[in-house]
Amino acid sequence: MKKKLLSSLTLAAMLFLAACGNGATSESTSSSESSQSSSSEEVVTGASEQQYTDPAEMKDSYDIIIIGSGGAGMSAAIQAKDAGLNPVIFEKMPVAGGNTIKSSAGMNASQTKFQEKEGITDSNDLFYEETLKGGKGTNDPELLRYLVDNSSSAIDWLDSMGITLDNLTTTGGMSQKRTHRPTDGSAVGEYLVAGLLRNLYDRKVPLFVNSDVVKITEKDGKVTGVELVLNGKDKKTISAKAVVIATGGYGANMDMVKEYQPQLDGFVTTNQSGSTGDGIKMAQELGAATTEIEAIQIHPTVEQKTSMLITEAVRGEGAILVSQAGTRFFNEMETRDKVSQAIIGLPEKYAYLIFDASLKDRVKAIAFYEKQGVVESGETLEALAEKIGVPADALKTSLENWNGSVESGTDSEFGRTTAMENPLATAPYYAIKIAPGIHHTMGGVKINTNTQVLKEDGSVINGLYAAGEVTGGIHGQNRIGGNAVADIIIFGRQAGTQSAAYAKE
Ligand code: ADP
Repeated sequence: MKKKLLSSLTLAAMLFLAACGNGATSESTSSSESSQSSSSEEVVTGASEQQYTDPAEMKDSYDIIIIGSGGAGMSAAIQAKDAGLNPVIFEKMPVAGGNTIKSSAGMNASQTKFQEKEGITDSNDLFYEETLKGGKGTNDPELLRYLVDNSSSAIDWLDSMGITLDNLTTTGGMSQKRTHRPTDGSAVGEYLVAGLLRNLYDRKVPLFVNSDVVKITEKDGKVTGVELVLNGKDKKTISAKAVVIATGGYGANMDMVKEYQPQLDGFVTTNQSGSTGDGIKMAQELGAATTEIEAIQIHPTVEQKTSMLITEAVRGEGAILVSQAGTRFFNEMETRDKVSQAIIGLPEKYAYLIFDASLKDRVKAIAFYEKQGVVESGETLEALAEKIGVPADALKTSLENWNGSVESGTDSEFGRTTAMENPLATAPYYAIKIAPGIHHTMGGVKINTNTQVLKEDGSVINGLYAAGEVTGGIHGQNRIGGNAVADIIIFGRQAGTQSAAYAKE
């Protein structure tokens, strides 16, 4: 049955039809519903084919225009609506969600109620310090401070909207369990996007897809709206009191990637095809400054045939990396830049993630990877070694040594200190072949903590706000896993609040 294939994301998208005035009466889904729940299927029954706001309903004017429907754009829209304004989202792709929907590890936050429940001692200061260290000390201190100090309330805000991230794990470079993910341990992106869409629907916020914003207009030093191309042909000029740029990064724009990092030519990208840096260019046309624009993150664990990112939660739950020689070669829980460089430094320039059946149970995404045909398995380590062509003895020794390190709590070989709670000892055993791929663009438009877009001289562009991957400064030269979702939610909210305050003036 077709409806059985629908994910919660599709469901939430379909529910837009009701929000957008075409008369359907579907109720919004319950907050606790998971992707596979049968109640999702029931709610979908009777929904029309149309998923997003009908283009015929596009108005000439809104209070606030939000460009891009990833986590930053949707958070901004919800917050602006709750402040009593009329926002709209324009999305250039045929579907909402951007790169956000592909995000896997979770959302980093400190001093949260969910950490407290698990007895995890964490602090905003530690979160700040570890992020700064991961970013090689180049993060904008004020933006980073804002991020950590508002992380716990952002988790509460999501929870209040039925988006509950109460399952905790760790990512590379973090010493505490502060990566918040859905209750069942599944990848955060699809759950988050479905939940945000559901909340936009509840608030009747219009979201137009196939709406490619090509210019942000300005008059007398103030932003006045946008020009967009609908369905690849109809040019429209829409006015607004404020504009929020939430267009994501430029990781799918190979010309920009090559311009800033020529050595990345030929790398696969994990980015969705809409991540083309449009927001950076449109902001620059209005005189916006950029910061660390050349900072591109390559993610260490990307399956190369599919360009599919293998979530950091696999390592966060205890997997190890081995080379074609069957031996470990680095601390798997180091920051992404360092792990990537270690893999590129191997003669074969790829590696294998190795894990066992009990880890597979803890990381739901692995079942999905299996369906995509990228997971090799063996009832014994010998069988697995044969499948991936590594020497069985070496692989067995690596696992024995590793399990010894887990037991003693000390990794004398590579100094790993986190994700050592569980040995890799339950058959069957698994391997995923990975190598680094272009993942996240850390640099972008310069903003202040009010998300106002800044010019080179530090002055603001009146009425122009930006949030999410399109901005720079928060992550410095290297982003920590789980910090992108924190960024888009925390600064997306702020962009909604601040643009609403400006629009009310
Ligand atoms: P973030 O994580 O910062 O929210 P995402 O990549 O998740 O960023 O979402 C950004 C969204 O913006 C994507 O869905 C992308 O297709 C959309 N987008 C990019 N450029 C434009 C544009 N010119 N007009 C409308 N939408 C755009």
